[in-house]
Amino acid sequence: MRQPILAGNWKMHGSLQKNHQLIEGMIAGGSKIAAELVVCPPFVYLNEVAQLLGGTNIAWGAQNVSEHKEGAYTGEISADMLSDLGCTYVIVGHSERRTLFGESNELVAAKFRAASDAGLIPILCLGETLSDRDAGQTLEVVKQQINAVLSLENGVKALYNAIVAYEPVWAIGTGRTATPEQAQEVHAAIRARIAEVDAGAAEQLRILYGGSVKRDNAESLMAMPDIDGGLIGGASLDAQHFLDIARLCNNSL
Ligand code: PEP
Repeated sequence: MRQPILAGNWKMHGSLQKNHQLIEGMIAGGSKIAAELVVCPPFVYLNEVAQLLGGTNIAWGAQNVSEHKEGAYTGEISADMLSDLGCTYVIVGHSERRTLFGESNELVAAKFRAASDAGLIPILCLGETLSDRDAGQTLEVVKQQINAVLSLENGVKALYNAIVAYEPVWAIGTGRTATPEQAQEVHAAIRARIAEVDAGAAEQLRILYGGSVKRDNAESLMAMPDIDGGLIGGASLDAQHFLDIARLCNNSL
């Protein structure tokens, strides 16, 4: 049985005061939710959010990590630093990192490995662009993205302690979501590809859907058998909205 998980990607939003209000709202309304909750604020607010969440069962993570262990990499943050701070999760390969910052499948895999080696739980984002989908290449593109991690030494073993998020690029921040059937098809294909290497890893892996998930479209997505929760951008900046989506993540319970 896979416990659903709902992760909020705050992207480059927030302030000390706004974060405080958002976290207070989540703590106040977050009891009796079966899904695991995670928030991913910008790096500079991780410590603030960690303090606010102390003693609650809401976890926190970062939005990116360096592939390097340490050294002369101005502006970068290592996995060991995140781990030192008590961080649990880290998003790797978000489509905004891939498209705006040129992160390749290989670089994303190197970040995945760095996170994993430091004991963090990577949230590995995969997804096709609209032109990939229109060209009928969705499953092939996503397969190549997952293959980059599977080809790491001990890659499939690391998936036992990782999360995957399927996020069609054309659905992120656009108000356009994949239909539950479109999402389910890709989730099942990701699981099947991993099962070719390790059936146990595939079965226990939580695969989240992301891309304009809101409380009015979450129910049918979360009801799909291979969708184990969500990675939420815009709607995670509103505590009530985020918690309403979390209440709909109960397909696996
Ligand atoms: C995201 O940033 O991962 C995301 C899915 O954003 P949104 O929910 O705003 O589409």
